[in-house]
Amino acid sequence: MGKHEFTKSYAQSLDEKDELAHFRNEFYIQSGSIYFDGNSLGLLSKRSEWAVLSLLESWKALGIDGWTKGENPWFYFAEKLGKMSESLVGAEPGEVIVTGSTTANLHQLVATFFKPEGKKAKILADELNFPSDIYALKSQLQLHGLDPAEHLVQVGSKDGCIIQEEDIIEAITDEIALIVLPSVLYRSGQILDMKRLTEEAHKRGIFIGFDLCHSIGSVPHSLSKWGVDFAFWCNYKHLNGGPGGVGSLYVNKKHFGTAPGLAGWFGSHKEKQFDMEHIFTQAQDASAYQMGTPHILSMAPLLGSLSIFNEAGIKNIRAKSLKLTEYLMELIDNELKEYNFIIANPRDDQSRGGHILLEHEEAARICKALKANKVIPDFRSSNGIRLAPVALYNTFEEVWEMVQVLKKIMEEEQYKQFENKREVVA
Ligand SMILES: *Cc1c(COP(=O)(O)O)cnc(C)c1O
Repeated sequence: MGKHEFTKSYAQSLDEKDELAHFRNEFYIQSGSIYFDGNSLGLLSKRSEWAVLSLLESWKALGIDGWTKGENPWFYFAEKLGKMSESLVGAEPGEVIVTGSTTANLHQLVATFFKPEGKKAKILADELNFPSDIYALKSQLQLHGLDPAEHLVQVGSKDGCIIQEEDIIEAITDEIALIVLPSVLYRSGQILDMKRLTEEAHKRGIFIGFDLCHSIGSVPHSLSKWGVDFAFWCNYKHLNGGPGGVGSLYVNKKHFGTAPGLAGWFGSHKEKQFDMEHIFTQAQDASAYQMGTPHILSMAPLLGSLSIFNEAGIKNIRAKSLKLTEYLMELIDNELKEYNFIIANPRDDQSRGGHILLEHEEAARICKALKANKVIPDFRSSNGIRLAPVALYNTFEEVWEMVQVLKKIMEEEQYKQFENKREVVA
């Protein structure tokens, strides 16, 4: 069966062989706890802390001149961070800009690329996507005077976890004007085949964009090679950009010059911006889809974080992530047999993202018991426990330890001390 042994010393031997192990020292790890929630809020690194402090320093020392002077002139900071993100998504120069939030960027991109005409006036999404994306799509339809009940097509899932790509492809009819899908489903961690879906969309002359919130910093992408039209993501999950950190968007260079649906002066050509004309001259790359003044201090952590990612390499990060989750699944299979857990994420490397989804009818209070034992998972309604052992700062020993803790919780029925109900922020 499995390829792993189930002893602690074996876990330690995996850590000894791990070439990314030294990056753990770059992060603030809360002592005595096991943090498996880096897919919801990544941890602070020392490089990010330094980046925030140095941005504050530039404000202190330079005042308004910080826009054009200092080590990281604020006027070009969003572009600089966009450039540093290119390797993570497989972008060509100028295709990524750090701006807005996931939801705001989705609004911008739909406002830009959804052009309903006659019968071709529907948006295709899926039934399992994150609610904010769906709210945004519905409100965009309403802005066009279209009824979401008719014009938002959501591909269903048979088991509530997995979406069949065949079902998506079947739903790409000639009534669809735009497709927006997640790269990795936030709950089950399923990876959709972005290359294949992009080909299918383009065969029918339809634009397609992806929400990369759960793949960015965890799974490599080749957006440009695949010809994806646009993408957007937050930077505070696997990318450790900090709570409320600024998001990012990608626009394929074939669309450079397309007028932003929601224009603002920071989308201007940089040389023209301060001419203060009422005629908008847009930047000729993804910068054009910015709106107002960049949130410099909220972008600062990314500077440190992206330098870590570029040093570690996304392929190496993915390789370790797959090993961690594979090991975790084998331990669960072996150690927790009698406790009715269901591993609900896809098992194969090809379609498994950076986290594991364990389903259990007592999930909400099992999560509370884990937290009481200083293991940090996250709960996803109605019965899901997401566990993300993160390549840059988690260890194989922590994976082993976490499963022992969970086993003890189940053996001793510790979860019964808690209410089986989620917290306000779950
Ligand atoms: C985390 C997440 C969001 C969050 O959107 P914000 O605008 O950053 O609050 C949206 N969509 C998906 C798929 C997510 O995972």
